[in-house]
Amino acid sequence: MPERLPAIFFGHGSPIIAMKQNATTEAWRALMDAMPRPRAVLCISAHWMSRGIAVTGQVAPPTIHDFGGFPRAMHEFQYPAPGNVTLVRRVAELLAPDPVAATTQWGFDHGSWTVLMKALPDADVPLVQLSLDVSRRPAQHFEIGRRLRPLRDEGVLIMGSGNIVHNLGDVIRQDGVPPHDYAVAFSRAIKRAILADDHQTVIDFEKLGLAASRSVPTPDHFWPLLYVLGARHPDDEVSFAPDFIEYGSIDMTTVTLRPPHAA
Ligand code: ZN
Repeated sequence: MPERLPAIFFGHGSPIIAMKQNATTEAWRALMDAMPRPRAVLCISAHWMSRGIAVTGQVAPPTIHDFGGFPRAMHEFQYPAPGNVTLVRRVAELLAPDPVAATTQWGFDHGSWTVLMKALPDADVPLVQLSLDVSRRPAQHFEIGRRLRPLRDEGVLIMGSGNIVHNLGDVIRQDGVPPHDYAVAFSRAIKRAILADDHQTVIDFEKLGLAASRSVPTPDHFWPLLYVLGARHPDDEVSFAPDFIEYGSIDMTTVTLRPPHAA
């Protein structure tokens, strides 16, 4: 049996990070270097919402450039990792009786590839994306993560990609600006709950009031965190690295849940 793998929620920020090499990209790479090589990655990205649960079913999913207003080079990046039909079948088995549609209508969106081109730059680990079913409540997203947890003992890295705080309307496009107060308050409250293994507070994030509604104006970037926390084992060690808020309202915090014997 392969060694248990971590589950990681990456704070992915602006897609432009694909063109950068910085402390964040180095931290992502270091996380991968500190764990056994995954047999495959299952990514839950903020950028794929669907009716019902879907997974990328292709042998070689395409790279999707799902953004606008970026330099041409951003549209030329390819992340040529293979798909994995065995993992697609296993996900369907774990989530049964809920139907899981293997689709050819999606691929690797920038929530997965802008992170993985830094973390696993060789693109040689098979990658499958799992969609966010828009009809589900936060507790149900958490529950899907819980049902996927056995994958961690089967050599699969469960990866969420989003942001704890993601308010594009409040972004200040300047390096080094201090974060908005609500963003700091919400990020702290969520991290405190994660450290205390208080998943109910994270599921009920809307109860955190104004800080929550400003930090999570739409749920897409927050929901992937629920999958990763659902896949948590009681003895996992928690770390936050990187851990900062950029442009005032984009939380780059990456949450790693790691088995205690791992590096
Ligand atoms: Zn995003």
